[in-house]
Order: sequence, then C-alpha cells, then structure tokens
Amino acid sequence: MATTRSSMGGGPIFVLREGTRRTQGRAARDSNILAGRAVANAIRTTLGPRGMDKMLVDSTGNVVITNDGATILDEMDVDHPGAQMIVEVAETQEEEVGDGTTTAAVLAGQLLVKAEDLLDEDVAPTTIVEGYQEAAHLAMAAIDEHLIDVEVDDDLLATVAAASMTGKGTGSVDPETLADLVVEAVRQVSTDGERIDREAIRVESRVGESASSTTVVEGVVVDKEPIADGMPRNIEDATVALLDVPIEVRESASGVEYRVTNADQLAAAMDAEEGELRGYVETLADAGVGVAISTKAIDDRIGSMLAREGILAFERVSSDDVRAIARATGATRVGTLVDLDEADLGTAHRVRIERFGEDELAVVEGGIETETVTVVVRGGTEHVVAELERAIDDAIDVVVTAMETGEVVPGAGAIETAISGYVRDHATTVAGRKQLAVEAFASAMDAIPQTLATNMGMDPIDAIVDLKTHHDRGEVVGIVDDGKNGDITDAVAAGVIEPAAIKREAIENATEAARMLLRIDDVIAAR
Ligand code: ADP
Ligand code: MG
Repeated sequence: MATTRSSMGGGPIFVLREGTRRTQGRAARDSNILAGRAVANAIRTTLGPRGMDKMLVDSTGNVVITNDGATILDEMDVDHPGAQMIVEVAETQEEEVGDGTTTAAVLAGQLLVKAEDLLDEDVAPTTIVEGYQEAAHLAMAAIDEHLIDVEVDDDLLATVAAASMTGKGTGSVDPETLADLVVEAVRQVSTDGERIDREAIRVESRVGESASSTTVVEGVVVDKEPIADGMPRNIEDATVALLDVPIEVRESASGVEYRVTNADQLAAAMDAEEGELRGYVETLADAGVGVAISTKAIDDRIGSMLAREGILAFERVSSDDVRAIARATGATRVGTLVDLDEADLGTAHRVRIERFGEDELAVVEGGIETETVTVVVRGGTEHVVAELERAIDDAIDVVVTAMETGEVVPGAGAIETAISGYVRDHATTVAGRKQLAVEAFASAMDAIPQTLATNMGMDPIDAIVDLKTHHDRGEVVGIVDDGKNGDITDAVAAGVIEPAAIKREAIENATEAARMLLRIDDVIAAR
C-alpha cells in the first residue's frame, strides 16, 4: 500500500517509505475505536468505592498496586494511537482537576462504543461528531440544574473529601479523619477562600508508623537530618540560605595534586584545606545565616565548624523541597558562596527538628505571608504509603476545586443519570440524524451508574431501570455503597458529593477525545 502508480511512466513510485503501515476509512476508525474501548474497559472495574485494585508490573519488575485511573493508565505501556488518546483523556483530567480520571476514560470508551453502532447504521462520522458536541452542551445545562453551593467554612467540604477517598486504599484509617485532615490543610492556605495556591499544600510520605499517624504540619516538612550532631534543633526567626553548590574543597575541580614528602607539608596542606572550608563557614556566619540548606553535598569537616557557629545545615535536599522552602521563606538559590548577597537570603519563623513517632524530620515554617502546609503521610509499607498518598493528593485537589468554584453536585451516578435524562429529553430539539448521536450520548452517560452497579455486585440493567424510575419522579438518586450492597437513594443525604467542575471536565475531555478519534479516517504509521 506504500506504493502508487504514476500516471506518466508506468513504473511504481514510492510515496511512503517502505514498511509504512497505512489503514484508511472504516478500517482506520474501527481499529482506533477498538483500541480506545479496550483501554477504557481495562479500568472500568476500578470505578467507585467498590472498585478493584490493579497490580501493575513494569519491565524492571517494579510493582504498583492502585485503584487510581490516572496512575493505571500512566503505568500501562500503551502502544496503539487510539488507546493513547484515552490515556491522554485521563492525563488531561488529572492535570485540570485532579480527579474523575476513571469516569472520563469510561465515558470516552462508551462514546466510542455508541459511535460504532451509529456507524453500522450508516450515520456519517461528521454527523456523530456534531451530535456529540451538541449533546455535550446539553449536558452542561443539565449539570447547572443540579448545582449545590458550598462555602469555605462548610462542613460539606469534609463530605466532599471523604467521598473522593472511599475505596481508595485508605486502609485502616477512618475516611472521615483523613477528610478532616485534608480540609484542615486546604483551609490553612486559603486566605480568601477564592484563590488557593495548590503548591502551598505539600504531601510528604515516609514509611513507618501506622497510617493513622498521618498528620498536617504547618510549614515545609523535609525528610532530612542535620549534617552534624551538636547543631541547633530549633531556631526561631532564622535567616535561611539555599545553596545550589557543593561546599567542599575545590581540589577535584582544579585537579591539584599535593606532593607531600614530610609531616610538615602534610599539615600545611591540611591547613590550607581547612582554611578554605573555614572561609565558607565565615561567609555564612557573617551574613547571619542560621539555616543552610543545600541541594548538593557538604564536606563532613564543615559540619562541626557550622555547629560551633550555631548554624543548622542540611545537605542533598531535593530540588522539589528546596523550591517549596524558597516559596515559604523568600530565599533564592545561590550558585556560589564567594559573594553571598543578602537579598538572596530568606527568613523562617522557625526551623526545627521534630519527632514523628520513631523518626525525625525537619520542619521549615515560612517567614513570608503565604502559608505552606505539609500532610505527613505515614503507613506500614511502601505500597500502603504510596496508595494513601495518591488518595490524599486527589482529595486535596477535589477540596481545592470545590472551594474555588463553590459548586458541587450529587455523585454515585446520580448526576450522570440526570444528565442522561436531560439530554434524551432535549434530543428532539436537534434536527436530522444528529439526533441519533445526541441519543447515543445520553445512553453513554448511563455507563457510569451502570459500572458503579456492576462493581457493587448488582444487576446493572435493573439498577438503571430503578434509577430512571426515581429520576422521572424528580428524585435525583444514585447508587450509594452502603457497605454491603448498592442502595438506590439520595446521594447528597448519603454524603456522596463531588465538585461540579470534575463532571464538566470529564464530559468535555471524553467528548473531545471521541470526536477526535471519529474524525480520523487515515492512519499512516511509520515503520
Ligand atoms: P474517578 O477516577 O472517576 O474519580 P473513582 O474510582 O474515584 O473514579 O470513582 C468515582 C465515582 O464513585 C464517582 O461517580 C462517585 O460519585 C462515586 N462514589 C464515591 N463514593 C461513593 C459511594 N459511597 N457510593 C457510591 N458511589 C460513590
Ligand atoms: Mg476519584
């Protein structure tokens, strides 16, 4: 297929490089749809509080156990371009709102399934694309009909946080306790309740202790110990220097080699080195630095010199941590110690070494306006800590979104059922064959309650019929996990609430991906 016949000469002309694979028309679309559906199907089983976990093993044998859609899709080594589009739906969702990734991917997959049926009935792909677009607009209007306002000091926020964490490997910890921690962390950094700096909320994980020891600490928590014993463990109103340069003798840099023939010379050489190191210490002390934090190594010999000056120092601190400390203290990283500019130094209310159970961590409380908080996540094993961290990270995003937008909607499939009904009711306002696509979109929405029902061990068809009957009577119910089964009941009263922004984003991302895949009628893949 990589050749074409020239109209002039007779012999074939190679247009595409040999080995290029090309699929066109229906075949191209079918292959994309199939791949997209396959990916969406793979993560369906993880949706909702009764979702199952997946164990992912990468080529080096690393194991990740998770229930998080974004993480699963991120770890899966997806090759097909159609499948890749679904992975991107989840990625965009994660970036934009931090939750609803499985929902978005399942919806995208379902929109493709429904599109395939329409293609079989000879509805043109462009018609489906346009119909889906109009249906997405109707879906937004449906969401607007079910908005619930939420205030910064609302107890509802903890409910929103808890709902986002159910079934997320929070293990032995009570979801309410965790939800309170998350809300407390977000409230601490929200000055006016409108703009929340997500960067000001950090999550620091450390294996050890039980998951219930997870706490919120004011300041930037860094998993580091002072470089020497005898350093102060608590400094108030500290001047902070952030160093991006190793503090050591520059011997290796200049390649100088000492040729020592007697003890005097050896002593002299060592004196010279010590002198150089002492010079660095003096520079810091003269500038009034109380805490020195370096991304690089600090020579062992300098530790005791710094301790004698009452300076607390940390080495090999991650760039991420240093960036957070820079934000909190107003310090700028310096690349040299030769002329330390006062303007580059920051201030901290307090820098201390604090015990967390058996462990000690450093806590830097910023000295400028913006507060930084750290959720210190604990857990018995690496897997527990990692999954708990993902759940908390998501919950933080959800609470931030809810607080910033002030709008939430009923979850547990209630809003999707309402959207489905609304879109179907309004399908007749859309002219021509596009109407079929609008109806298809409406039934694609049912995939969310259907999947929740399946994962809760219910019959999905019965559940949907039951749901719709209630909705027709104006009762916006969902399928709420009651610990044993799915209970068809008022989702808001049961505390299953989610930010409206997550639903809007999921529908937009899923629709966009489906539309993009449907528009493709030619796949040209290089060898
Ligand atoms: P996502 O990646 O889409 O956020 P989740 O696995 O977090 O996927 O599942 C989210 C879905 O689970 C939402 O539709 C939410 O409303 C629903 N959900 C959360 N808690 C409950 C509950 N207790 N009962 C029923 N559904 C719930
Ligand atoms: Mg979620």
